[in-house]
Amino acid sequence: MSYIIASDLNQALQILRDSKGQARVIAGATDLFLQTLPAELVDLAELYETTQLEESGGLLSIGSAVTHASAARSLLIRSKAAALAEACAMIGSPQVRNIGTIGGNVANAAPAADAAVALVALGAKAVITDIEGQTREEAVEELYAGYNRSVIDSSSEIIGRLVFKPCAAGEGSAFMRFAPRRALALPLVNVAARIRVSGRRIEAVRMVAAPVKPAPTRLFETEALLQEIIPGHEIWAKVEEAAASEVEVRGSILRCSGQYRRHLVGTLAERVLKEAYQRACASDGGET
Ligand SMILES: Cc1cc2nc3c(=O)[nH]c(=O)nc-3n(C[C@H](O)[C@H](O)[C@H](O)COP(=O)(O)OP(=O)(O)OC[C@H]3O[C@@H](n4cnc5c(N)ncnc54)[C@H](O)[C@@H]3O)c2cc1C
Repeated sequence: MSYIIASDLNQALQILRDSKGQARVIAGATDLFLQTLPAELVDLAELYETTQLEESGGLLSIGSAVTHASAARSLLIRSKAAALAEACAMIGSPQVRNIGTIGGNVANAAPAADAAVALVALGAKAVITDIEGQTREEAVEELYAGYNRSVIDSSSEIIGRLVFKPCAAGEGSAFMRFAPRRALALPLVNVAARIRVSGRRIEAVRMVAAPVKPAPTRLFETEALLQEIIPGHEIWAKVEEAAASEVEVRGSILRCSGQYRRHLVGTLAERVLKEAYQRACASDGGET
């Protein structure tokens, strides 16, 4: 087996091109090392393009090889994309967070991947370059081809970065999950939301839950309940009910029943939306 630490994106793409499908991108390896390894591995951890985390041109740009630990402690992400910082802070354990990456979390396409769920709520797109040198942007939720299957072919395509509009004044986001333990446990349910307010009135909301379908799933009916209103006690109760009834959840013998998971979606949806709303109102200068 050969292991090459690429020095720039072009070199990484060249290696993939020359290997004709025999090489694969590797980042933190926390998912990849559990699978059958290919003949060649191309490491992205030292590329300038995949390790930068910045705000420019009105967008937050997060290199695909940024680790969960870096994202969780980044002041930029904590202040302008709190949902992502919260998601990254809950992944695995300190060891996993120190090496696992945001791009790997997205490309691995697990239905309840924590960082991916937060990114969908934030409206993130992946910037993908293929071995022909073509670059395209795709919404993170569009990258799922099925359970644990990505549309990204990591032997010929590289996610360079994830981009989205940072939360501005009057916007807030939040992420919560429920898992059997506080560390080293995959979530039974995770939920994320992004809200924009004007005064205390909700102008826009994105709400996502997983694992509901192969990809992190928008809860459109729940979102619709909150459009253009100033939410009060009654609405939050309706949100819990709407979120629980709009999802079609599967149970599993190993993890929990579908009924329990549905209950968790409702409970977490209400909590996450309230938190995101409070943050949005606070950043708008309003009271909650
Ligand atoms: C003990 C343990 C606990 C875990 N707990 C959680 C958890 O709580 N929540 C959670 O969401 N995940 C969890 N994970 C899963 C894992 O840590 C994450 O999915 C991680 O983010 C994957 O990133 P990586 O850098 O390790 O990817 P890798 O394993 O290196 O790669 C994963 C896949 O993505 C491809 N890939 C990686 N980067 C790119 C890129 N830039 N472009 C194209 N393809 C790419 C690889 O070829 C491979 O197919 C856990 C894993 C372990 C081992």
